[in-house]
Amino acid sequence: MDNFNRVINYLRISITDRCNLRCKYCTETFLPSIGHDDVLRYEEVIRLTRIAASLGVRKVRLTGGEPLRRKSLPFLLKEIDAIGAIEDISLTTNGVDLAQYVEELKESGLKRVNISLDTLKRERFAYITGVDAFDRVMRSIEKAKEAGLDPVKINTVIIKDFNDDEILDFVDFAERLDVEVRFIEFMPFGDESVWDSSKVLHSAYLESIIRGKHDLEPSISPHKGPAKMFLLKGGRGQVGFISPMSSHICHECNRLRLTADGKLKPCLFSDTEYDVRALLRGGASDEEIGAFVRGVVGAKPERKFESGTIKKCQRSMRHIGG
Ligand code: SAM
Repeated sequence: MDNFNRVINYLRISITDRCNLRCKYCTETFLPSIGHDDVLRYEEVIRLTRIAASLGVRKVRLTGGEPLRRKSLPFLLKEIDAIGAIEDISLTTNGVDLAQYVEELKESGLKRVNISLDTLKRERFAYITGVDAFDRVMRSIEKAKEAGLDPVKINTVIIKDFNDDEILDFVDFAERLDVEVRFIEFMPFGDESVWDSSKVLHSAYLESIIRGKHDLEPSISPHKGPAKMFLLKGGRGQVGFISPMSSHICHECNRLRLTADGKLKPCLFSDTEYDVRALLRGGASDEEIGAFVRGVVGAKPERKFESGTIKKCQRSMRHIGG
Protein backbone atom coordinates (compact mmCIF):
# COMPACT_ATOMS: atom_id res chain seq x y z
CA MET A 1 0.00 0.00 0.00
CA ASP A 2 1.30 3.47 -0.80
CA ASN A 3 1.11 6.63 1.32
CA PHE A 4 -2.34 7.45 -0.08
CA ASN A 5 -3.97 4.10 0.78
CA ARG A 6 -3.77 2.82 -2.77
CA VAL A 7 -3.07 -0.88 -3.12
CA ILE A 8 -0.21 -1.27 -5.59
CA ASN A 9 -0.67 -4.72 -7.06
CA TYR A 10 0.10 -4.20 -10.75
CA LEU A 11 3.55 -4.21 -12.36
CA ARG A 12 3.93 -3.11 -15.97
CA ILE A 13 7.17 -4.41 -17.39
CA SER A 14 8.76 -3.04 -20.53
CA ILE A 15 10.98 -5.77 -21.93
CA THR A 16 12.44 -3.77 -24.81
CA ASP A 17 12.42 -0.23 -26.11
CA ARG A 18 12.76 -1.46 -29.69
CA CYS A 19 9.75 -1.35 -31.96
CA ASN A 20 9.01 -2.42 -35.52
CA LEU A 21 6.66 0.54 -36.06
CA ARG A 22 7.44 4.25 -36.12
CA CYS A 23 4.15 5.77 -35.07
CA LYS A 24 4.22 9.47 -35.85
CA TYR A 25 3.02 10.61 -32.45
CA CYS A 26 5.11 8.16 -30.44
CA THR A 27 8.57 7.93 -31.83
CA GLU A 28 8.98 9.44 -35.24
CA THR A 29 12.42 10.87 -34.85
CA PHE A 30 15.37 8.58 -34.39
CA LEU A 31 16.12 8.00 -30.76
CA PRO A 32 18.99 5.72 -29.83
CA SER A 33 17.91 2.38 -28.46
CA ILE A 34 19.03 1.21 -25.05
CA GLY A 35 22.33 -0.68 -25.35
CA HIS A 36 22.05 -4.46 -25.25
CA ASP A 37 23.92 -4.79 -21.95
CA ASP A 38 21.76 -2.15 -20.33
CA VAL A 39 18.51 -4.03 -20.98
CA LEU A 40 17.43 -6.17 -18.04
CA ARG A 41 18.01 -9.86 -18.66
CA TYR A 42 15.04 -12.18 -18.28
CA GLU A 43 16.52 -13.66 -15.07
CA GLU A 44 16.62 -10.15 -13.62
CA VAL A 45 13.04 -9.41 -14.67
CA ILE A 46 11.88 -12.72 -13.18
CA ARG A 47 13.71 -12.12 -9.91
CA LEU A 48 12.27 -8.65 -9.54
CA THR A 49 8.77 -9.91 -10.37
CA ARG A 50 9.11 -12.65 -7.77
CA ILE A 51 10.15 -10.09 -5.14
CA ALA A 52 7.32 -7.75 -6.15
CA ALA A 53 4.88 -10.68 -5.93
CA SER A 54 6.07 -11.41 -2.40
CA LEU A 55 5.14 -7.80 -1.54
CA GLY A 56 1.65 -7.98 -3.04
CA VAL A 57 1.89 -7.61 -6.82
CA ARG A 58 -0.77 -9.83 -8.44
CA LYS A 59 -0.96 -8.57 -12.03
CA VAL A 60 1.78 -8.25 -14.63
CA ARG A 61 1.65 -6.70 -18.08
CA LEU A 62 4.47 -7.08 -20.58
CA THR A 63 4.94 -4.17 -22.91
CA GLY A 64 7.61 -2.17 -24.70
CA GLY A 65 8.68 -0.94 -27.32
CA GLU A 66 7.20 -3.91 -29.06
CA PRO A 67 7.43 -6.90 -26.68
CA LEU A 68 7.17 -9.42 -29.52
CA ARG A 69 10.51 -8.13 -30.81
CA ARG A 70 12.24 -9.72 -27.85
CA LYS A 71 13.27 -13.34 -28.26
CA SER A 72 12.00 -16.19 -26.07
CA LEU A 73 8.93 -14.39 -24.79
CA PRO A 74 7.19 -17.75 -24.05
CA PHE A 75 10.03 -18.55 -21.65
CA LEU A 76 9.47 -15.32 -19.74
CA LEU A 77 5.72 -15.89 -19.64
CA LYS A 78 6.12 -19.41 -18.28
CA GLU A 79 8.49 -18.24 -15.57
CA ILE A 80 6.19 -15.42 -14.49
CA ASP A 81 3.19 -17.75 -14.65
CA ALA A 82 5.05 -20.11 -12.33
CA ILE A 83 5.20 -17.41 -9.64
CA GLY A 84 2.15 -18.59 -7.73
CA ALA A 85 1.05 -15.18 -6.48
CA ILE A 86 0.77 -13.71 -9.99
CA GLU A 87 -2.86 -14.15 -11.00
CA ASP A 88 -2.96 -12.30 -14.29
CA ILE A 89 -0.45 -11.86 -17.13
CA SER A 90 -1.28 -9.71 -20.11
CA LEU A 91 0.53 -8.24 -23.09
CA THR A 92 0.34 -4.94 -24.94
CA THR A 93 1.37 -5.27 -28.58
CA ASN A 94 0.98 -3.55 -31.91
CA GLY A 95 -0.24 -6.90 -33.21
CA VAL A 96 1.99 -6.99 -36.28
CA ASP A 97 3.63 -10.29 -35.30
CA LEU A 98 1.06 -11.64 -32.87
CA ALA A 99 -0.83 -14.05 -35.15
CA GLN A 100 2.12 -16.39 -35.55
CA TYR A 101 2.89 -16.60 -31.82
CA VAL A 102 -0.50 -16.34 -30.18
CA GLU A 103 -1.12 -20.05 -29.54
CA GLU A 104 2.33 -20.53 -28.01
CA LEU A 105 1.95 -17.42 -25.87
CA LYS A 106 -1.40 -18.62 -24.58
CA GLU A 107 0.07 -22.03 -23.74
CA SER A 108 2.86 -20.24 -21.90
CA GLY A 109 0.46 -18.48 -19.54
CA LEU A 110 -0.76 -15.38 -21.36
CA LYS A 111 -4.32 -14.60 -20.31
CA ARG A 112 -5.21 -11.45 -22.21
CA VAL A 113 -3.95 -9.12 -24.87
CA ASN A 114 -4.27 -5.43 -25.73
CA ILE A 115 -3.65 -4.57 -29.36
CA SER A 116 -2.94 -0.98 -30.33
CA LEU A 117 -4.70 0.25 -33.44
CA ASP A 118 -5.32 3.88 -34.36
CA THR A 119 -7.01 3.53 -37.72
CA LEU A 120 -9.19 1.12 -39.67
CA LYS A 121 -7.91 2.41 -42.99
CA ARG A 122 -5.07 0.50 -44.55
CA GLU A 123 -3.31 3.46 -46.18
CA ARG A 124 -3.66 5.57 -43.07
CA PHE A 125 -2.17 2.77 -41.00
CA ALA A 126 0.90 2.80 -43.25
CA TYR A 127 1.10 6.59 -42.94
CA ILE A 128 0.81 6.65 -39.14
CA THR A 129 3.10 3.71 -38.42
CA GLY A 130 5.48 3.86 -41.38
CA VAL A 131 4.75 0.18 -42.15
CA ASP A 132 2.12 -1.38 -44.40
CA ALA A 133 1.01 -3.98 -41.87
CA PHE A 134 -2.70 -3.32 -41.39
CA ASP A 135 -3.74 -6.76 -42.68
CA ARG A 136 -1.34 -8.46 -40.30
CA VAL A 137 -2.84 -6.65 -37.33
CA MET A 138 -6.36 -7.63 -38.44
CA ARG A 139 -5.25 -11.24 -38.71
CA SER A 140 -3.75 -11.05 -35.22
CA ILE A 141 -6.99 -9.74 -33.75
CA GLU A 142 -8.88 -12.67 -35.32
CA LYS A 143 -6.28 -15.18 -34.14
CA ALA A 144 -6.25 -13.78 -30.61
CA LYS A 145 -10.01 -14.26 -30.45
CA GLU A 146 -9.79 -17.75 -31.94
CA ALA A 147 -7.13 -18.67 -29.38
CA GLY A 148 -9.56 -17.74 -26.63
CA LEU A 149 -7.68 -14.78 -25.17
CA ASP A 150 -10.43 -12.93 -23.42
CA PRO A 151 -11.10 -10.09 -23.57
CA VAL A 152 -9.28 -8.82 -26.65
CA LYS A 153 -8.86 -5.12 -26.08
CA ILE A 154 -8.07 -2.61 -28.80
CA ASN A 155 -6.25 0.55 -27.65
CA THR A 156 -6.96 3.56 -29.83
CA VAL A 157 -5.43 6.99 -29.38
CA ILE A 158 -7.69 9.57 -31.01
CA ILE A 159 -5.89 12.77 -32.05
CA LYS A 160 -7.55 15.85 -33.48
CA ASP A 161 -7.35 16.14 -37.28
CA PHE A 162 -5.43 12.89 -37.39
CA ASN A 163 -7.95 10.08 -36.90
CA ASP A 164 -10.95 11.72 -35.21
CA ASP A 165 -13.06 10.99 -38.29
CA GLU A 166 -12.95 7.29 -37.32
CA ILE A 167 -14.55 7.38 -33.87
CA LEU A 168 -17.85 5.84 -35.01
CA ASP A 169 -16.07 3.38 -37.31
CA PHE A 170 -14.26 2.04 -34.25
CA VAL A 171 -17.58 1.58 -32.45
CA ASP A 172 -18.89 -0.45 -35.41
CA PHE A 173 -15.64 -2.39 -35.38
CA ALA A 174 -16.08 -3.23 -31.66
CA GLU A 175 -19.56 -4.55 -32.40
CA ARG A 176 -18.61 -6.44 -35.55
CA LEU A 177 -15.61 -8.21 -34.03
CA ASP A 178 -17.00 -8.40 -30.50
CA VAL A 179 -13.94 -6.73 -28.98
CA GLU A 180 -13.41 -3.95 -26.42
CA VAL A 181 -12.26 -0.70 -28.01
CA ARG A 182 -10.74 1.69 -25.49
CA PHE A 183 -10.19 5.26 -26.60
CA ILE A 184 -7.16 6.79 -24.90
CA GLU A 185 -6.53 10.51 -24.65
CA PHE A 186 -3.37 11.79 -26.32
CA MET A 187 -0.73 12.30 -23.64
CA PRO A 188 2.33 14.56 -23.59
CA PHE A 189 5.02 12.07 -24.49
CA GLY A 190 7.31 11.49 -27.39
CA ASP A 191 8.35 13.72 -30.22
CA GLU A 192 8.49 17.32 -28.99
CA SER A 193 7.11 18.62 -32.25
CA VAL A 194 4.00 16.43 -32.29
CA TRP A 195 2.11 16.86 -28.99
CA ASP A 196 0.31 20.02 -28.14
CA SER A 197 -2.78 20.46 -26.06
CA SER A 198 -4.95 21.55 -29.01
CA LYS A 199 -4.63 18.04 -30.43
CA VAL A 200 -6.01 16.36 -27.32
CA LEU A 201 -9.64 15.28 -27.64
CA HIS A 202 -11.27 14.65 -24.30
CA SER A 203 -13.24 11.49 -23.61
CA ALA A 204 -16.41 13.51 -22.92
CA TYR A 205 -16.32 14.78 -26.49
CA LEU A 206 -15.84 11.28 -27.90
CA GLU A 207 -18.61 9.95 -25.70
CA SER A 208 -21.03 12.62 -26.91
CA ILE A 209 -20.28 11.75 -30.56
CA ILE A 210 -20.90 8.07 -29.87
CA ARG A 211 -24.08 8.66 -27.85
CA GLY A 212 -25.45 10.56 -30.85
CA LYS A 213 -25.70 7.21 -32.62
CA HIS A 214 -25.51 4.46 -30.00
CA ASP A 215 -27.06 3.60 -26.66
CA LEU A 216 -24.30 2.99 -24.16
CA GLU A 217 -24.89 0.94 -21.05
CA PRO A 218 -22.27 1.03 -18.26
CA SER A 219 -20.33 -2.22 -18.06
CA ILE A 220 -18.72 -3.69 -15.01
CA SER A 221 -15.82 -5.67 -16.35
CA PRO A 222 -13.35 -7.32 -13.97
CA HIS A 223 -10.43 -6.16 -16.13
CA LYS A 224 -11.57 -2.62 -16.80
CA GLY A 225 -8.56 -0.91 -15.18
CA PRO A 226 -8.79 2.87 -15.44
CA ALA A 227 -11.24 2.65 -18.36
CA LYS A 228 -14.87 3.71 -18.14
CA MET A 229 -16.47 0.91 -20.18
CA PHE A 230 -19.85 0.64 -21.91
CA LEU A 231 -21.76 -2.22 -23.49
CA LEU A 232 -23.18 -1.62 -26.93
CA LYS A 233 -26.91 -2.10 -27.33
CA GLY A 234 -26.65 -5.07 -29.71
CA GLY A 235 -24.91 -7.05 -26.97
CA ARG A 236 -21.65 -7.51 -28.85
CA GLY A 237 -18.53 -5.50 -28.15
CA GLN A 238 -17.76 -2.74 -25.71
CA VAL A 239 -16.31 0.73 -25.94
CA GLY A 240 -14.58 2.64 -23.22
CA PHE A 241 -12.62 5.72 -22.39
CA ILE A 242 -9.31 6.17 -20.63
CA SER A 243 -9.01 9.79 -19.60
CA PRO A 244 -5.60 10.55 -18.16
CA MET A 245 -5.77 14.14 -19.43
CA SER A 246 -9.32 15.16 -18.58
CA SER A 247 -10.00 13.21 -15.38
CA HIS A 248 -8.22 12.53 -12.19
CA ILE A 249 -7.83 8.79 -12.26
CA CYS A 250 -4.80 8.90 -9.97
CA HIS A 251 -6.78 7.84 -6.90
CA GLU A 252 -7.36 4.51 -8.70
CA CYS A 253 -3.72 4.05 -9.67
CA ASN A 254 -2.50 0.60 -8.66
CA ARG A 255 0.69 0.34 -10.69
CA LEU A 256 4.42 0.52 -10.83
CA ARG A 257 6.38 0.48 -14.09
CA LEU A 258 9.68 -1.14 -14.87
CA THR A 259 11.54 0.23 -17.89
CA ALA A 260 13.57 -2.02 -20.17
CA ASP A 261 16.78 -0.60 -18.69
CA GLY A 262 15.75 -1.44 -15.16
CA LYS A 263 14.31 1.78 -13.79
CA LEU A 264 11.25 1.66 -11.58
CA LYS A 265 8.81 4.47 -12.28
CA PRO A 266 6.26 5.30 -9.59
CA CYS A 267 4.20 7.56 -11.90
CA LEU A 268 3.82 7.57 -15.67
CA PHE A 269 3.66 11.35 -15.75
CA SER A 270 6.76 11.97 -13.73
CA ASP A 271 10.33 11.75 -14.97
CA THR A 272 11.49 10.45 -11.61
CA GLU A 273 12.92 6.95 -11.91
CA TYR A 274 14.68 4.61 -9.50
CA ASP A 275 17.52 2.42 -10.69
CA VAL A 276 16.78 -1.12 -9.56
CA ARG A 277 19.17 -2.61 -12.12
CA ALA A 278 22.12 -1.37 -10.09
CA LEU A 279 20.88 -3.41 -7.13
CA LEU A 280 20.02 -6.47 -9.21
CA ARG A 281 23.54 -6.44 -10.63
CA GLY A 282 25.30 -5.25 -7.52
CA GLY A 283 24.78 -8.28 -5.34
CA ALA A 284 21.83 -6.95 -3.32
CA SER A 285 19.76 -9.51 -1.43
CA ASP A 286 16.06 -10.09 -2.10
CA GLU A 287 15.31 -8.28 1.17
CA GLU A 288 17.30 -5.22 0.08
CA ILE A 289 15.58 -5.15 -3.29
CA GLY A 290 12.19 -5.62 -1.60
CA ALA A 291 12.91 -2.64 0.66
CA PHE A 292 13.88 -0.61 -2.42
CA VAL A 293 10.60 -1.53 -4.17
CA ARG A 294 8.66 -0.50 -1.05
CA GLY A 295 10.53 2.81 -1.14
CA VAL A 296 9.48 3.38 -4.75
CA VAL A 297 5.86 2.63 -3.82
CA GLY A 298 6.27 5.15 -1.00
CA ALA A 299 7.42 7.71 -3.56
CA LYS A 300 4.26 7.49 -5.66
CA PRO A 301 2.88 11.02 -5.92
CA GLU A 302 -0.74 11.55 -4.95
CA ARG A 303 -1.57 12.79 -8.41
CA LYS A 304 -0.01 13.51 -11.77
CA PHE A 305 1.22 16.98 -12.68
CA GLU A 306 1.67 17.88 -9.04
CA SER A 307 3.09 21.21 -10.03
CA GLY A 308 -0.27 21.98 -11.65
CA THR A 309 1.03 22.40 -15.18
CA ILE A 310 1.21 19.93 -18.00
CA LYS A 311 4.74 19.39 -19.15
CA LYS A 312 6.10 17.04 -21.72
CA CYS A 313 7.74 13.98 -20.30
CA GLN A 314 11.33 13.34 -21.23
CA ARG A 315 10.94 9.83 -22.51
CA SER A 316 8.52 8.59 -25.19
CA MET A 317 6.07 5.79 -24.48
CA ARG A 318 8.39 3.53 -26.45
CA HIS A 319 11.09 4.20 -23.89
CA ILE A 320 8.90 4.14 -20.80
CA GLY A 321 6.77 1.17 -21.82
CA GLY A 322 3.25 2.13 -22.83
N1 SAM B 1 4.29 -1.71 -29.08
C1 SAM B 1 3.21 -1.95 -28.17
C2 SAM B 1 1.91 -1.40 -28.69
O1 SAM B 1 1.91 -0.83 -29.79
O2 SAM B 1 0.90 -1.57 -28.04
C3 SAM B 1 3.45 -1.43 -26.75
C4 SAM B 1 4.09 -0.09 -26.59
S1 SAM B 1 3.16 1.27 -27.21
C5 SAM B 1 4.22 2.60 -26.72
C6 SAM B 1 1.82 1.28 -26.06
C7 SAM B 1 0.71 2.25 -26.31
O3 SAM B 1 1.16 3.56 -26.04
C8 SAM B 1 0.15 2.26 -27.72
O4 SAM B 1 -1.23 1.98 -27.64
C9 SAM B 1 0.36 3.68 -28.16
O5 SAM B 1 -0.69 4.13 -28.98
C10 SAM B 1 0.38 4.41 -26.85
N2 SAM B 1 1.00 5.73 -26.90
C11 SAM B 1 2.21 6.09 -27.36
N3 SAM B 1 2.41 7.43 -27.24
C12 SAM B 1 1.27 7.91 -26.69
C13 SAM B 1 0.83 9.21 -26.33
N4 SAM B 1 1.61 10.26 -26.49
N5 SAM B 1 -0.41 9.34 -25.80
C14 SAM B 1 -1.21 8.27 -25.62
N6 SAM B 1 -0.86 7.02 -25.93
C15 SAM B 1 0.36 6.84 -26.47
